[in-house]
Amino acid sequence: MNDQDNRRRVVIIGGGFAGLFAARALRRAPVRVTLIDRVEHHLFQPLLYQCATGILSEGKIAAPLRAILRKNRNVAFVLAEVTGIDAERRRVLATRPGGKATEFGYDYLIVAAGVQQSYFGHDEFAMYAPGMKTIEDALVIRRRVFGAFEMAESAADPAERTRWLTFALVGAGPTGVELAGQIRELATKTLRAEYRHIKPEDARVLLFDGGAAPLAPFGPKLSAKAASSLDRLGVEQHMHSIVTQIDATGLSVRAEDGTVTRHDAATVLWTAGVAAPSVAAAIAQATGAKQDRAGRIEVGPDLAIPGHPDILVTGDVMSLNKLPGVAEVAMQTGLYAGRRIRREVAGRSTAKPFRYYDLGSAAYLSRGRAVVSVGRLQFAGFPGWVVWLFIHIGFLTGYRNRAGALMSWWFAFTRDMRRERTFTTRQVGIVRDVYAEPPPPAASPPPGHA
Ligand SMILES: Cc1cc2nc3c(=O)[nH]c(=O)nc-3n(C[C@H](O)[C@H](O)[C@H](O)COP(=O)(O)OP(=O)(O)OC[C@H]3O[C@@H](n4cnc5c(N)ncnc54)[C@H](O)[C@@H]3O)c2cc1C
Repeated sequence: MNDQDNRRRVVIIGGGFAGLFAARALRRAPVRVTLIDRVEHHLFQPLLYQCATGILSEGKIAAPLRAILRKNRNVAFVLAEVTGIDAERRRVLATRPGGKATEFGYDYLIVAAGVQQSYFGHDEFAMYAPGMKTIEDALVIRRRVFGAFEMAESAADPAERTRWLTFALVGAGPTGVELAGQIRELATKTLRAEYRHIKPEDARVLLFDGGAAPLAPFGPKLSAKAASSLDRLGVEQHMHSIVTQIDATGLSVRAEDGTVTRHDAATVLWTAGVAAPSVAAAIAQATGAKQDRAGRIEVGPDLAIPGHPDILVTGDVMSLNKLPGVAEVAMQTGLYAGRRIRREVAGRSTAKPFRYYDLGSAAYLSRGRAVVSVGRLQFAGFPGWVVWLFIHIGFLTGYRNRAGALMSWWFAFTRDMRRERTFTTRQVGIVRDVYAEPPPPAASPPPGHA
């Protein structure tokens, strides 16, 4: 982009559903768009659990942002982590991989930074109980789950073996329910004939939630169907249970009557809560925007931060009318933000306030079983699963990913095969965040040392 270019500058923070749909809406607008993300890919989060449990590879649920945007000639992608904004100077402040600071000027800013896992004030749990938001999380969970069966196989002590074969999941929303079902399914089907010392089907899966039932937002009827499907799969449901402590060998849980029970489990996975990323607080501070309890930025009906019509907030990081953090909200708010800017630069009258069209929600339970709620229509069991299949094929990014996912599902559903089970047992070099400054070079060894 040259300095003579007098098109208006739009910066989009985040290449999730909201950011991508905003960029697409601006495709033919006379603006230059910079889309910044801290990762190089767009991730289809709803299928992370299938990556974690060996059905789909990471490449099938993620696609390079650069490739997705190659035909959007007015969009430039930048790999960087946004740290804040200077709302007066209209600058986005960011860090490049390697730790160097950089800035981007804007006329319009679209914030689409999503949310991250929240441990409800117990960040120390994260060390023992990975969440599921990113590709890294899915690969860690894959290693923990398949690794647990390996550890059980070589354990001489029966108590240790039982601990490795116990999986605890915290949170009975769609992600917790999907993961719980998948772990039981891989234990009872895929891995059944592969071990010589353990019976994988002995694996216990415990599901904990503070609420009264799994998948409560789907309503009592579908929630009850989900509970009975989980029962049939052998998932042990512990509702009205608050997790009070997690460590390397298990977790403690407080029941409604106040009694605390200890459960030994070598694998604990956390899917319970979300919070806005730190960049949301930085933007709120720079603009005086309010944040809700989860740190999401409160916006007006035009998705703008009050007093800042040039800054629109979209997707999971936005707080408006208690809209849920789901892909449809992200897509529709992203589209709205892009279209609103397109209208404004074309000098057309301001767009109408944002209106959300609820297209429903779906959760996968096990092979051939899912629950789907679309307006008044509710599907469970096999019909729900067929609807689930079409929805996910429709929304996966790229026809290659769709074809690849269909093929993997065919093998997983007809032959119990999970081909994406690779995990590493060694780490190369020091694991560090690429946005942190690299450590200083080590002092050279004294002469005579190799
Ligand atoms: C495991 C799981 C399962 C789900 N299942 C469903 C489902 O079945 N149905 C459904 O409708 N929804 C589901 N959701 C929710 C849905 O995926 C989200 O609502 C949707 O992805 C939100 O889109 P977004 O664009 O707002 O945020 P995201 O998709 O999270 O994208 C945010 C982007 O911003 C980037 N980013 C964040 N901070 C920075 C920064 N400081 N600098 C630069 N870039 C940054 C991130 O790297 C990311 O790419 C699920 C979510 C998860 C985690």
